[in-house]
Amino acid sequence: MSDLELVEPSGEIAINNIPKAHKHLNPCVRALGPGPEGATCKNCAKLIRVLYRDKVYVKCQMRAVTHGPGTDHRVNWPACKKWEAADI
Ligand code: SF4
Repeated sequence: MSDLELVEPSGEIAINNIPKAHKHLNPCVRALGPGPEGATCKNCAKLIRVLYRDKVYVKCQMRAVTHGPGTDHRVNWPACKKWEAADI
């Protein structure tokens, strides 16, 4: 499998245009597949901000949410298949 292929749950191979440098960063893209072309987590309704000990941490509702850095999410990650436009 090349760096630009992802396997869908159906077993089909989906080609995406995620830059190689970002491809492996969003665990939801790995697990669920890529989202709309050019979309990022920044404008997704599933992105949440959690206040903990006077600091704000960005998390994704599609992942486990803990108080640890392992579930911190990046707003500029390429969107996954569950991307949903946020109300602005
Ligand atoms: S696109 Fe939305 S659901 Fe997917 S990883 Fe980003 S914030 Fe989470």
